[in-house]
Amino acid sequence: MNVADSEVVASVLKESGFEVTGDINEAGLILINTCSIRENAEQRIWGRLRAISHLKKKRRDLRIGLIGCMAERLKEKVLETEKLVDLVVGPDAYRDLPALVAETEAGHKAVNVLLSREETYSDISPVRMDKDGVTSFVSIMRGCNNMCAYCVVPYVRGAERSRDPESIIREVNELLDEGYREVTLLGQNVDSYRWDKEGKITDFPELLERVALTDPLLRVRFSTSHPKDLSDELLHTIARNKNICRHIHLPAQSGSSRILKLMNREYTREWYMDRIKAIRKIIPDCAISTDMIAGFCTETDEDHKETLSLMEWAQYDFAYMFKYSERPGTKAARKFRDDVPEEIKSKRLDEIIGLQNRLSAKTKKLDIGKVFEVLTEGRSKRSGDHLSGRTSQNKVVVFPEEGHKKGEYLNVLIERCTSATLIGKII
Ligand code: SAH
Ligand code: SF4
Repeated sequence: MNVADSEVVASVLKESGFEVTGDINEAGLILINTCSIRENAEQRIWGRLRAISHLKKKRRDLRIGLIGCMAERLKEKVLETEKLVDLVVGPDAYRDLPALVAETEAGHKAVNVLLSREETYSDISPVRMDKDGVTSFVSIMRGCNNMCAYCVVPYVRGAERSRDPESIIREVNELLDEGYREVTLLGQNVDSYRWDKEGKITDFPELLERVALTDPLLRVRFSTSHPKDLSDELLHTIARNKNICRHIHLPAQSGSSRILKLMNREYTREWYMDRIKAIRKIIPDCAISTDMIAGFCTETDEDHKETLSLMEWAQYDFAYMFKYSERPGTKAARKFRDDVPEEIKSKRLDEIIGLQNRLSAKTKKLDIGKVFEVLTEGRSKRSGDHLSGRTSQNKVVVFPEEGHKKGEYLNVLIERCTSATLIGKII
Protein backbone atom coordinates (compact mmCIF):
# COMPACT_ATOMS: atom_id res chain seq x y z
CA MET A 1 0.00 0.00 0.00
CA ASN A 2 2.81 2.38 0.80
CA VAL A 3 4.53 1.62 -2.51
CA ALA A 4 1.29 2.57 -4.30
CA ASP A 5 1.07 5.76 -2.22
CA SER A 6 4.70 6.70 -2.91
CA GLU A 7 3.92 6.39 -6.61
CA VAL A 8 1.00 8.81 -6.26
CA VAL A 9 3.26 11.23 -4.37
CA ALA A 10 5.92 11.00 -7.10
CA SER A 11 3.26 11.75 -9.70
CA VAL A 12 1.87 14.79 -7.83
CA LEU A 13 5.37 16.22 -7.47
CA LYS A 14 6.37 15.42 -11.04
CA GLU A 15 3.44 17.53 -12.26
CA SER A 16 5.08 20.42 -10.40
CA GLY A 17 8.48 19.92 -11.98
CA PHE A 18 10.15 17.57 -9.46
CA GLU A 19 12.02 14.44 -10.53
CA VAL A 20 12.70 11.18 -8.72
CA THR A 21 16.38 10.42 -8.11
CA GLY A 22 18.01 7.15 -7.15
CA ASP A 23 20.90 8.99 -5.46
CA ILE A 24 20.10 10.32 -1.99
CA ASN A 25 23.06 12.75 -2.17
CA GLU A 26 21.49 14.40 -5.18
CA ALA A 27 18.05 14.87 -3.60
CA GLY A 28 16.80 18.35 -2.66
CA LEU A 29 13.74 16.84 -0.98
CA ILE A 30 13.57 13.54 0.91
CA LEU A 31 10.11 12.22 1.79
CA ILE A 32 9.88 9.26 4.13
CA ASN A 33 6.66 7.31 3.68
CA THR A 34 5.66 5.71 6.96
CA CYS A 35 3.55 2.94 8.48
CA SER A 36 2.10 2.99 12.00
CA ILE A 37 0.67 -0.52 12.16
CA ARG A 38 3.18 -1.84 14.67
CA GLU A 39 5.45 -0.01 17.04
CA ASN A 40 8.65 -1.43 15.54
CA ALA A 41 7.69 0.00 12.12
CA GLU A 42 7.68 3.43 13.75
CA GLN A 43 10.93 2.74 15.60
CA ARG A 44 12.62 2.00 12.28
CA ILE A 45 11.49 5.37 10.93
CA TRP A 46 13.04 7.24 13.86
CA GLY A 47 16.27 5.36 13.17
CA ARG A 48 16.07 6.30 9.50
CA LEU A 49 15.50 9.95 10.33
CA ARG A 50 18.55 9.99 12.58
CA ALA A 51 20.58 8.31 9.85
CA ILE A 52 19.83 11.06 7.35
CA SER A 53 20.39 13.88 9.82
CA HIS A 54 24.05 14.11 8.76
CA LEU A 55 22.95 15.00 5.20
CA LYS A 56 20.95 17.92 6.54
CA LYS A 57 23.97 19.16 8.49
CA LYS A 58 26.01 19.26 5.30
CA ARG A 59 23.31 20.74 3.07
CA ARG A 60 21.14 23.34 4.68
CA ASP A 61 18.85 23.64 1.65
CA LEU A 62 17.84 19.97 1.89
CA ARG A 63 14.15 19.52 2.86
CA ILE A 64 12.98 16.45 4.77
CA GLY A 65 9.35 15.39 5.04
CA LEU A 66 7.50 12.69 6.91
CA ILE A 67 4.43 11.43 5.03
CA GLY A 68 1.85 8.68 5.51
CA CYS A 69 0.36 7.08 8.61
CA MET A 70 2.95 8.18 11.14
CA ALA A 71 2.61 11.76 9.96
CA GLU A 72 -1.11 11.41 10.56
CA ARG A 73 -0.71 9.83 13.97
CA LEU A 74 1.96 12.08 15.40
CA LYS A 75 1.09 15.30 13.60
CA GLU A 76 2.71 18.44 15.03
CA LYS A 77 4.54 16.42 17.65
CA VAL A 78 6.99 15.34 14.96
CA LEU A 79 7.81 18.94 14.05
CA GLU A 80 8.25 19.87 17.68
CA THR A 81 10.46 16.97 18.71
CA GLU A 82 12.29 16.19 15.48
CA LYS A 83 13.79 19.52 14.47
CA LEU A 84 15.10 17.96 11.31
CA VAL A 85 11.67 17.45 9.73
CA ASP A 86 10.41 20.34 7.56
CA LEU A 87 7.05 18.97 6.53
CA VAL A 88 4.47 16.49 7.77
CA VAL A 89 1.81 15.29 5.35
CA GLY A 90 -0.96 12.76 6.02
CA PRO A 91 -2.19 10.16 3.49
CA ASP A 92 -5.11 12.22 2.18
CA ALA A 93 -3.17 15.46 1.66
CA TYR A 94 -0.67 14.51 -1.05
CA ARG A 95 -2.21 16.87 -3.62
CA ASP A 96 -1.14 19.69 -1.33
CA LEU A 97 2.54 18.64 -1.39
CA PRO A 98 3.82 21.15 -3.99
CA ALA A 99 2.31 24.05 -2.01
CA LEU A 100 3.65 22.64 1.26
CA VAL A 101 7.15 22.20 -0.16
CA ALA A 102 7.01 25.81 -1.37
CA GLU A 103 6.15 26.89 2.18
CA THR A 104 9.24 25.13 3.50
CA GLU A 105 11.34 26.88 0.87
CA ALA A 106 10.18 30.16 2.37
CA GLY A 107 11.66 28.94 5.64
CA HIS A 108 8.46 27.71 7.33
CA LYS A 109 7.52 24.30 8.63
CA ALA A 110 4.49 22.87 6.80
CA VAL A 111 1.76 20.47 7.94
CA ASN A 112 -1.37 19.01 6.38
CA VAL A 113 -2.87 15.96 8.04
CA LEU A 114 -6.52 16.48 7.15
CA LEU A 115 -8.31 13.24 6.39
CA SER A 116 -10.87 13.18 3.62
CA ARG A 117 -14.10 11.27 2.97
CA GLU A 118 -13.64 11.41 -0.81
CA GLU A 119 -9.97 11.44 -1.77
CA THR A 120 -8.98 8.37 -3.82
CA TYR A 121 -6.41 10.05 -6.12
CA SER A 122 -8.42 8.41 -8.90
CA ASP A 123 -7.31 10.82 -11.64
CA ILE A 124 -3.60 10.51 -10.81
CA SER A 125 -1.49 8.15 -12.91
CA PRO A 126 1.15 6.93 -10.47
CA VAL A 127 4.83 7.18 -11.42
CA ARG A 128 5.94 3.54 -11.25
CA MET A 129 8.84 2.93 -8.91
CA ASP A 130 8.78 -0.89 -8.93
CA LYS A 131 11.65 -1.62 -11.15
CA ASP A 132 10.72 -5.00 -12.65
CA GLY A 133 8.27 -3.43 -15.11
CA VAL A 134 6.15 -6.60 -15.02
CA THR A 135 4.12 -6.42 -11.80
CA SER A 136 2.39 -3.42 -10.31
CA PHE A 137 -0.08 -2.30 -7.64
CA VAL A 138 -3.36 -0.51 -8.31
CA SER A 139 -5.14 1.05 -5.37
CA ILE A 140 -8.93 0.48 -5.60
CA MET A 141 -10.00 1.96 -2.29
CA ARG A 142 -8.61 3.83 0.70
CA GLY A 143 -9.20 3.81 4.44
CA CYS A 144 -11.13 1.24 6.45
CA ASN A 145 -14.52 1.11 8.20
CA ASN A 146 -13.81 -1.98 10.27
CA MET A 147 -12.87 -1.39 13.82
CA CYS A 148 -10.57 -4.28 14.66
CA ALA A 149 -9.71 -3.54 18.29
CA TYR A 150 -5.92 -3.72 17.79
CA CYS A 151 -5.69 -1.72 14.59
CA VAL A 152 -4.67 1.89 14.01
CA VAL A 153 -5.50 1.96 10.27
CA PRO A 154 -9.02 3.51 10.54
CA TYR A 155 -7.52 6.33 12.63
CA VAL A 156 -4.57 7.12 10.40
CA ARG A 157 -6.04 6.41 6.97
CA GLY A 158 -9.61 7.52 7.57
CA ALA A 159 -12.98 6.15 6.47
CA GLU A 160 -13.33 3.62 3.68
CA ARG A 161 -13.95 4.98 0.19
CA SER A 162 -13.92 3.19 -3.15
CA ARG A 163 -12.37 4.49 -6.32
CA ASP A 164 -14.29 5.04 -9.57
CA PRO A 165 -14.07 1.76 -11.57
CA GLU A 166 -13.53 3.64 -14.84
CA SER A 167 -10.35 5.21 -13.45
CA ILE A 168 -9.17 1.78 -12.26
CA ILE A 169 -9.70 0.25 -15.72
CA ARG A 170 -7.94 3.24 -17.29
CA GLU A 171 -4.92 2.76 -15.03
CA VAL A 172 -4.85 -0.98 -15.79
CA ASN A 173 -4.90 -0.25 -19.54
CA GLU A 174 -2.03 2.24 -19.15
CA LEU A 175 -0.03 -0.44 -17.34
CA LEU A 176 -0.74 -2.96 -20.10
CA ASP A 177 0.40 -0.43 -22.73
CA GLU A 178 3.63 0.06 -20.77
CA GLY A 179 4.25 -3.70 -20.87
CA TYR A 180 3.11 -4.70 -17.36
CA ARG A 181 1.68 -8.21 -17.09
CA GLU A 182 0.36 -8.35 -13.52
CA VAL A 183 -1.66 -6.03 -11.32
CA THR A 184 -2.50 -6.39 -7.64
CA LEU A 185 -5.69 -4.57 -6.67
CA LEU A 186 -5.20 -3.09 -3.23
CA GLY A 187 -7.51 -2.19 -0.38
CA GLN A 188 -7.75 -2.88 3.36
CA ASN A 189 -10.91 -4.90 2.77
CA VAL A 190 -11.39 -5.39 -0.97
CA ASP A 191 -14.59 -7.42 -0.49
CA SER A 192 -16.41 -4.29 0.62
CA TYR A 193 -15.47 -2.37 -2.56
CA ARG A 194 -18.63 -0.64 -3.78
CA TRP A 195 -19.18 2.07 -6.37
CA ASP A 196 -22.61 3.54 -6.79
CA LYS A 197 -23.24 5.49 -9.98
CA GLU A 198 -26.82 6.70 -10.19
CA GLY A 199 -28.06 3.49 -8.60
CA LYS A 200 -25.83 1.19 -10.70
CA ILE A 201 -23.66 -0.65 -8.20
CA THR A 202 -20.25 -2.11 -9.01
CA ASP A 203 -19.11 -4.54 -6.33
CA PHE A 204 -15.76 -6.29 -5.95
CA PRO A 205 -16.52 -9.47 -7.95
CA GLU A 206 -17.72 -7.31 -10.85
CA LEU A 207 -14.71 -5.00 -10.69
CA LEU A 208 -12.32 -7.94 -10.50
CA GLU A 209 -13.88 -9.60 -13.53
CA ARG A 210 -13.81 -6.34 -15.50
CA VAL A 211 -10.09 -5.99 -14.76
CA ALA A 212 -9.47 -9.64 -15.68
CA LEU A 213 -11.33 -9.22 -18.98
CA THR A 214 -9.18 -6.26 -20.11
CA ASP A 215 -6.62 -8.76 -21.45
CA PRO A 216 -6.16 -12.53 -20.99
CA LEU A 217 -2.40 -11.87 -20.80
CA LEU A 218 -2.83 -9.80 -17.66
CA ARG A 219 -2.64 -11.57 -14.32
CA VAL A 220 -4.80 -10.13 -11.59
CA ARG A 221 -4.18 -10.41 -7.84
CA PHE A 222 -5.87 -8.67 -4.94
CA SER A 223 -5.30 -8.03 -1.27
CA THR A 224 -6.70 -8.02 1.40
CA SER A 225 -9.84 -10.12 1.83
CA HIS A 226 -11.71 -9.96 5.11
CA PRO A 227 -13.09 -13.38 6.15
CA LYS A 228 -16.41 -11.85 7.25
CA ASP A 229 -17.03 -10.54 3.71
CA LEU A 230 -15.49 -13.20 1.43
CA SER A 231 -18.43 -14.31 -0.72
CA ASP A 232 -19.00 -17.46 -2.79
CA GLU A 233 -19.76 -15.11 -5.69
CA LEU A 234 -16.18 -13.83 -5.51
CA LEU A 235 -14.83 -17.39 -5.44
CA HIS A 236 -16.89 -18.33 -8.53
CA THR A 237 -15.62 -15.20 -10.29
CA ILE A 238 -12.05 -16.30 -9.62
CA ALA A 239 -12.78 -19.90 -10.67
CA ARG A 240 -14.15 -18.91 -14.09
CA ASN A 241 -11.33 -16.46 -14.96
CA LYS A 242 -8.03 -18.23 -15.55
CA ASN A 243 -6.03 -15.01 -15.27
CA ILE A 244 -7.27 -14.19 -11.74
CA CYS A 245 -4.54 -15.69 -9.60
CA ARG A 246 -5.13 -18.76 -7.49
CA HIS A 247 -4.12 -17.17 -4.22
CA ILE A 248 -6.26 -15.67 -1.48
CA HIS A 249 -4.77 -13.80 1.45
CA LEU A 250 -7.33 -14.36 4.18
CA PRO A 251 -5.99 -13.06 7.51
CA ALA A 252 -7.39 -15.08 10.42
CA GLN A 253 -5.51 -13.14 13.18
CA SER A 254 -6.38 -15.84 15.75
CA GLY A 255 -7.85 -19.33 15.89
CA SER A 256 -9.84 -18.67 19.06
CA SER A 257 -13.43 -17.43 18.74
CA ARG A 258 -13.13 -15.73 22.13
CA ILE A 259 -10.10 -13.71 21.00
CA LEU A 260 -11.68 -12.98 17.60
CA LYS A 261 -14.67 -11.50 19.42
CA LEU A 262 -12.41 -9.32 21.57
CA MET A 263 -10.56 -8.29 18.42
CA ASN A 264 -13.90 -7.27 16.91
CA ARG A 265 -13.21 -9.30 13.77
CA GLU A 266 -16.92 -10.15 13.39
CA TYR A 267 -16.43 -13.84 12.61
CA THR A 268 -15.85 -17.02 14.59
CA ARG A 269 -13.36 -19.83 14.10
CA GLU A 270 -16.19 -21.89 12.55
CA TRP A 271 -17.13 -19.14 10.10
CA TYR A 272 -13.49 -18.79 9.08
CA MET A 273 -13.17 -22.55 8.57
CA ASP A 274 -16.31 -22.53 6.44
CA ARG A 275 -14.74 -19.86 4.20
CA ILE A 276 -11.59 -21.98 3.78
CA LYS A 277 -13.73 -25.01 2.90
CA ALA A 278 -15.55 -22.89 0.30
CA ILE A 279 -12.22 -21.83 -1.26
CA ARG A 280 -10.97 -25.44 -1.38
CA LYS A 281 -14.24 -26.59 -2.98
CA ILE A 282 -14.72 -23.82 -5.56
CA ILE A 283 -11.02 -23.22 -6.45
CA PRO A 284 -9.22 -26.50 -5.66
CA ASP A 285 -5.78 -25.26 -6.78
CA CYS A 286 -5.90 -22.06 -4.70
CA ALA A 287 -3.08 -21.14 -2.32
CA ILE A 288 -4.16 -19.58 0.96
CA SER A 289 -2.17 -17.28 3.23
CA THR A 290 -2.91 -15.56 6.50
CA ASP A 291 -1.85 -12.98 9.09
CA MET A 292 -1.63 -14.09 12.72
CA ILE A 293 -1.19 -12.04 15.88
CA ALA A 294 0.42 -13.68 18.93
CA GLY A 295 -0.37 -12.49 22.44
CA PHE A 296 -3.42 -10.28 22.01
CA CYS A 297 -4.92 -9.04 25.31
CA THR A 298 -6.07 -11.88 27.63
CA GLU A 299 -4.82 -14.61 25.24
CA THR A 300 -4.36 -17.88 27.18
CA ASP A 301 -2.35 -20.97 26.29
CA GLU A 302 -5.64 -22.57 25.21
CA ASP A 303 -6.38 -19.67 22.81
CA HIS A 304 -2.85 -19.92 21.45
CA LYS A 305 -3.26 -23.67 20.88
CA GLU A 306 -6.42 -22.93 18.91
CA THR A 307 -4.38 -20.63 16.66
CA LEU A 308 -1.85 -23.42 16.09
CA SER A 309 -4.57 -25.99 15.41
CA LEU A 310 -6.32 -23.67 12.95
CA MET A 311 -3.04 -23.20 11.09
CA GLU A 312 -2.45 -26.94 10.98
CA TRP A 313 -6.00 -27.52 9.75
CA ALA A 314 -5.86 -24.77 7.11
CA GLN A 315 -2.42 -25.89 5.82
CA TYR A 316 -1.48 -22.34 4.90
CA ASP A 317 1.00 -21.81 2.10
CA PHE A 318 2.32 -18.64 3.65
CA ALA A 319 1.78 -16.35 6.65
CA TYR A 320 2.71 -12.95 8.04
CA MET A 321 3.08 -13.37 11.78
CA PHE A 322 3.27 -10.67 14.43
CA LYS A 323 3.51 -10.12 18.13
CA TYR A 324 0.65 -7.99 19.40
CA SER A 325 1.80 -4.40 19.73
CA GLU A 326 -0.48 -1.94 21.49
CA ARG A 327 -1.27 1.09 19.36
CA PRO A 328 -2.34 4.32 21.10
CA GLY A 329 -5.95 5.35 20.51
CA THR A 330 -7.24 1.93 19.42
CA LYS A 331 -10.11 0.20 21.22
CA ALA A 332 -7.71 -2.36 22.69
CA ALA A 333 -5.45 0.39 24.06
CA ARG A 334 -8.41 2.20 25.60
CA LYS A 335 -10.33 -0.76 27.00
CA PHE A 336 -8.07 -3.77 27.51
CA ARG A 337 -4.85 -4.39 29.35
CA ASP A 338 -1.87 -5.50 27.22
CA ASP A 339 -1.47 -8.30 29.75
CA VAL A 340 0.43 -11.07 27.96
CA PRO A 341 4.05 -10.81 29.12
CA GLU A 342 6.63 -10.05 26.44
CA GLU A 343 8.46 -13.38 26.83
CA ILE A 344 5.20 -15.32 26.41
CA LYS A 345 4.32 -13.29 23.31
CA SER A 346 7.78 -14.12 21.91
CA LYS A 347 7.47 -17.80 22.75
CA ARG A 348 4.04 -18.05 21.12
CA LEU A 349 5.21 -16.16 18.06
CA ASP A 350 8.19 -18.53 17.74
CA GLU A 351 5.82 -21.50 17.87
CA ILE A 352 3.58 -19.95 15.22
CA ILE A 353 6.58 -19.22 12.98
CA GLY A 354 8.02 -22.71 13.53
CA LEU A 355 4.74 -24.33 12.57
CA GLN A 356 4.31 -22.13 9.50
CA ASN A 357 7.85 -22.94 8.33
CA ARG A 358 6.89 -26.59 8.46
CA LEU A 359 3.60 -26.00 6.63
CA SER A 360 5.26 -23.84 3.95
CA ALA A 361 7.90 -26.52 3.35
CA LYS A 362 5.19 -29.16 3.13
CA THR A 363 3.06 -27.27 0.60
CA LYS A 364 6.17 -26.57 -1.49
CA LYS A 365 7.15 -30.24 -1.50
CA LEU A 366 3.68 -31.07 -2.82
CA ASP A 367 4.49 -28.87 -5.85
CA ILE A 368 7.48 -31.01 -6.87
CA GLY A 369 6.75 -32.90 -10.10
CA LYS A 370 3.99 -30.48 -11.12
CA VAL A 371 4.06 -28.02 -14.03
CA PHE A 372 3.13 -24.39 -13.37
CA GLU A 373 2.66 -21.43 -15.65
CA VAL A 374 5.19 -18.90 -14.39
CA LEU A 375 5.20 -15.18 -15.17
CA THR A 376 8.86 -14.22 -15.40
CA GLU A 377 9.77 -11.12 -13.38
CA GLY A 378 13.50 -10.89 -14.11
CA ARG A 379 16.89 -12.33 -13.28
CA SER A 380 17.18 -14.37 -10.12
CA LYS A 381 19.07 -12.41 -7.45
CA ARG A 382 21.04 -15.45 -6.37
CA SER A 383 22.07 -16.81 -9.73
CA GLY A 384 22.73 -14.57 -12.75
CA ASP A 385 21.90 -17.12 -15.47
CA HIS A 386 18.56 -18.03 -13.86
CA LEU A 387 15.21 -16.28 -14.15
CA SER A 388 12.78 -15.77 -11.34
CA GLY A 389 9.01 -15.55 -11.52
CA ARG A 390 5.87 -16.59 -9.69
CA THR A 391 3.15 -19.15 -10.12
CA SER A 392 -0.50 -18.16 -10.06
CA GLN A 393 -0.39 -19.38 -6.42
CA ASN A 394 2.20 -16.66 -5.70
CA LYS A 395 5.11 -19.04 -5.16
CA VAL A 396 8.54 -17.94 -6.33
CA VAL A 397 10.11 -20.19 -8.98
CA VAL A 398 13.72 -20.06 -10.20
CA PHE A 399 14.81 -21.76 -13.45
CA PRO A 400 17.58 -21.58 -16.10
CA GLU A 401 17.24 -18.60 -18.43
CA GLU A 402 17.57 -20.39 -21.80
CA GLY A 403 17.17 -17.19 -23.83
CA HIS A 404 13.90 -16.12 -22.22
CA LYS A 405 13.24 -12.79 -20.61
CA LYS A 406 11.02 -11.02 -18.12
CA GLY A 407 7.34 -10.58 -18.90
CA GLU A 408 7.06 -14.00 -20.60
CA TYR A 409 4.72 -16.77 -19.46
CA LEU A 410 6.59 -20.09 -19.33
CA ASN A 411 5.62 -23.60 -18.29
CA VAL A 412 8.04 -24.77 -15.63
CA LEU A 413 8.38 -28.29 -14.20
CA ILE A 414 9.22 -28.12 -10.49
CA GLU A 415 12.16 -30.41 -9.62
CA ARG A 416 13.07 -29.39 -6.07
CA CYS A 417 12.64 -26.63 -3.52
CA THR A 418 14.42 -24.63 -0.84
CA SER A 419 12.61 -23.13 2.16
CA ALA A 420 11.59 -20.05 0.14
CA THR A 421 11.75 -21.05 -3.50
CA LEU A 422 10.65 -23.67 -6.02
CA ILE A 423 13.37 -24.69 -8.49
CA GLY A 424 12.60 -26.12 -11.90
CA LYS A 425 13.15 -26.21 -15.66
CA ILE A 426 11.23 -24.83 -18.61
CA ILE A 427 9.34 -27.48 -20.58
N1 SAH B 1 -6.71 -4.85 6.37
C1 SAH B 1 -5.98 -6.03 6.53
C2 SAH B 1 -4.67 -5.90 7.26
C3 SAH B 1 -4.07 -4.59 7.56
S1 SAH B 1 -2.78 -4.50 8.70
C4 SAH B 1 -6.83 -7.04 7.27
O1 SAH B 1 -7.80 -6.74 7.89
O2 SAH B 1 -6.45 -8.20 7.24
C5 SAH B 1 -1.76 -5.90 8.35
C6 SAH B 1 -1.65 -6.83 9.49
O3 SAH B 1 -0.94 -6.25 10.55
C7 SAH B 1 -2.96 -7.28 10.11
O4 SAH B 1 -3.59 -8.28 9.39
C8 SAH B 1 -2.52 -7.75 11.48
O5 SAH B 1 -2.17 -9.11 11.47
C9 SAH B 1 -1.27 -6.91 11.75
N2 SAH B 1 -1.54 -5.92 12.79
C10 SAH B 1 -2.35 -4.84 12.72
N3 SAH B 1 -2.33 -4.17 13.89
C11 SAH B 1 -1.50 -4.83 14.72
C12 SAH B 1 -1.07 -4.66 16.07
N4 SAH B 1 -1.51 -3.65 16.80
N5 SAH B 1 -0.18 -5.54 16.58
C13 SAH B 1 0.27 -6.57 15.84
N6 SAH B 1 -0.11 -6.80 14.58
C14 SAH B 1 -0.98 -5.95 14.02
FE1 SF4 C 1 -7.22 -2.81 10.42
FE2 SF4 C 1 -9.27 -4.48 10.61
FE3 SF4 C 1 -9.33 -2.48 8.84
FE4 SF4 C 1 -7.69 -4.55 8.45
S1 SF4 C 1 -9.93 -4.62 8.48
S2 SF4 C 1 -7.19 -2.37 8.26
S3 SF4 C 1 -7.07 -5.05 10.51
S4 SF4 C 1 -9.32 -2.28 11.06
